[in-house]
Amino acid sequence: MDNGAVLPTPARESHPDPVVPPVDGDSLEPWPGRPSHPRAAEDGRGHAVVLGAGMAGLLAARVLSETFERVTVLERDVFLDGGPHGDSRRGVPQGRHLHGLLDRGRQIMEELFPGLTTELTQRGASTIETLVGSRWYLRGLRVRSTPTGLTSVLASRGLLEDVLRARLRAIPGVEFVQRTSATGLVAAPEAPDRIIGVHVARQSRGVGIGVVHADLVVDATGRASRGPDWLAALELPAPPERRTDVDLGYASRFYRHRPEHLDGQRSVIVSTMPGFRGGGAVALEGGRWHVTLAGMLGDHPPTDPEGFEAFARTLPVPDIYDLVTSTEALGDPVPHRFASSLRRYYERVKNPPTGFLVIGDAICSFNPLYAQGMTVAAQQAWALRDCLRAAGPDLPARFYRQAGRLVDVAWDMANGADLCYPGVQGRRGLRDRLVGPYAERVQVAAHQNATVARALMNTLNLVDAPTALLRPAVAAGVLRFGWSHPTTPAPTLTAASAAGRSSDQAGSA
Ligand SMILES: Cc1cc2nc3c(=O)[nH]c(=O)nc-3n(C[C@H](O)[C@H](O)[C@H](O)COP(=O)(O)OP(=O)(O)OC[C@H]3O[C@@H](n4cnc5c(N)ncnc54)[C@H](O)[C@@H]3O)c2cc1C
Repeated sequence: MDNGAVLPTPARESHPDPVVPPVDGDSLEPWPGRPSHPRAAEDGRGHAVVLGAGMAGLLAARVLSETFERVTVLERDVFLDGGPHGDSRRGVPQGRHLHGLLDRGRQIMEELFPGLTTELTQRGASTIETLVGSRWYLRGLRVRSTPTGLTSVLASRGLLEDVLRARLRAIPGVEFVQRTSATGLVAAPEAPDRIIGVHVARQSRGVGIGVVHADLVVDATGRASRGPDWLAALELPAPPERRTDVDLGYASRFYRHRPEHLDGQRSVIVSTMPGFRGGGAVALEGGRWHVTLAGMLGDHPPTDPEGFEAFARTLPVPDIYDLVTSTEALGDPVPHRFASSLRRYYERVKNPPTGFLVIGDAICSFNPLYAQGMTVAAQQAWALRDCLRAAGPDLPARFYRQAGRLVDVAWDMANGADLCYPGVQGRRGLRDRLVGPYAERVQVAAHQNATVARALMNTLNLVDAPTALLRPAVAAGVLRFGWSHPTTPAPTLTAASAAGRSSDQAGSA
């Protein structure tokens, strides 16, 4: 375990020399030649290549298309264009689990793709006022239902990607190439710290390897990014890393949606917290409930149907259990294990190579319980847009500085919440020791006080900074209502002990 430690990434094997690609199938012809100009990347001109068509890659492509003449998105998968959006593609196994889009992320996406929210609803998604159309439970207490000004768009991850891809395809100069894996970086022979392309392997009626040249390469390959290895193979500095082990388990299953469920509300979130198992149920396009159950530190929900229901029964409130036992299941539960949050500190790399950027989960993969990943990817894309608009030298360093500051906010929130679990290893500084107890009281107060509830939701949605919770009106609410319930939960029920518990005994707030 390397919790709290910042470790250099070890170097791995180097990559073979470029080979001209004998590739058929969906075409990347004509293969781009050498980068147009040594400073093209800084100026945002020429050809940008994005590795990975996940959320970070799609949003980066949109931003790059504003200045680069040509943007090529290389994706190792085959897209599931048009849906149905239950099975996610192989490269994004997390797409089989609930993917809540925080309102800050939705706002940025809406700026980049005007009318996106409406288009999603036209494709079957729905929107709700965050604390009105949804039930939120923290510590088994329902957060007070009150207008927040926040919109939650309830769409599957697959639908969101599908709509963004279609929008991008309509932008002149943007091209997707599927079944193509990036395998390494190509440096300029005369300037080893200038990246001028990527090695690729293509799977299309046979395998081909080759090089795609670019003025800017953007690594958006997600958590499993091999960017640090690729840099090390070129004897370029790789970023230090930090991990926080959380051993989180998810299990998710679809159910038939009926209008009478949850009294017409379309979402219920039961936050996973120390002493509380959690889960969520969200009404998605296609008349389905998407139900995800979660447990930390090895307390993983089972994936056999009976075990899944039994786990649902141990949640601190009965809403999800009542739901899954009152409607038809559509398929079996599927698991996901998330061992650790992972942060790669590219902003600490001195003189990062030109022509290469890293974005999204490849920089930071957050504990998914806090639903931050897509929104932080959107924030990073927005920062990249600012950097490209400002133009000038040192694009990677400028971008990493801005992205690092954004990531830090979300990382501190998520990591701080994880460190409230005594079993999570990591440094607990003075700030954690002060913030943790205040945060607990905020959560209790949000149950009764609308001002605190609004402030908390705006912070969790990354719309406001966490310091907003210290504003006088919020602090007054916390002082007045934050001690109305104990913060220590009753002992967590196990599936076995819950078997005898009736759902109406489960203690809704
Ligand atoms: C279980 C789980 C639940 C989550 N829930 C939420 C949530 O509720 N809300 C939220 O905002 N975020 C959530 N996340 C995080 C979210 O999925 C990511 O933060 C978000 O998708 C941004 O990731 P990305 O685009 O950087 O990487 P990914 O989405 O992982 O995309 C990477 C892409 O790169 C492709 N790729 C990989 N290697 C290569 C290669 N060598 N060459 C070419 N292509 C390659 C992959 O096929 C994939 O398409 C969750 C994550 C997990 C694990």
